[in-house]
Amino acid sequence: MTKAHAGKPCIICVAITGSVPTKADNPAVPVTISEQVESTHAAFEAGASIMHAHVRDDEGKPTSDPERFARLKEAVEAHCPGMIIQLSTGGRSGAGQARGGMLPLRPDMASLSVGSNNFPTRVYENPPDLVDWLAAEMLSHDVKPEIEAFDLSHIFKAAEMAAKGQLAGKPYVQFVMGVKNAMPVDREVFDFYIRTVHRLLGADVPWCAAGIGQNQIVVNDWAISSGGHARTGLEDNVRLDKATLAPSNAALVARAVAICEKYERPVATPMQARAILGLRPVAA
Ligand SMILES: [Zn+2]
Repeated sequence: MTKAHAGKPCIICVAITGSVPTKADNPAVPVTISEQVESTHAAFEAGASIMHAHVRDDEGKPTSDPERFARLKEAVEAHCPGMIIQLSTGGRSGAGQARGGMLPLRPDMASLSVGSNNFPTRVYENPPDLVDWLAAEMLSHDVKPEIEAFDLSHIFKAAEMAAKGQLAGKPYVQFVMGVKNAMPVDREVFDFYIRTVHRLLGADVPWCAAGIGQNQIVVNDWAISSGGHARTGLEDNVRLDKATLAPSNAALVARAVAICEKYERPVATPMQARAILGLRPVAA
């Protein structure tokens, strides 16, 4: 076991809800705003410094309603001081420009998909004009994008957008692996992703990774041992193992914290995470 990155703080992001999991999959999936705030707070206490959020409507279905995002953002800011709020502009929650309707709320970050690929039962559609529009909205509202790389080409696209001045600062890329019909969880690809990020964006740029389903913990281990940052949470995986549902988002965060301990990486505080990502300070 290599501890090549011992001492380097690791940012843990908790993706609390997503668009797909339901209470039927796992009763711990937070759906209402108050459940989301409570779940985020427990995850924050467990070590998460970024919360990645989608919102649901009264029937529990995904929505891009800016009013719901506003209520969630305000409550998390009140209950989790300094925590980085990252709102999803993902395509499962809305269509077209509605996906970015919450960006005027000026969350610290927002997810940004820069290319299309397949999802389990559909095309994940990110047409170039919409990608450009979402990036421009993020730039004008001072929202740092997290580039979701579902494919190698998305890392190249992020580099191209950065060179054209479409993104503030260096892109923060997340490798997403294990979505059915998209990039599988493959160690050689993972290592190539890291090399490509460093080659195109700079030797010292931070990056992160997420694995789906039972591969969440696999990708957490790869990312933490390789010097990256880690995403966990019920959006990506609802189980601790084949037989056991995760009791909470906090339990999944605790699992990532244990991996950080294994590789002697301190868990980044929200202030450290803000500095690593070049985010603006917390609003007074
Ligand atoms: Zn998401």
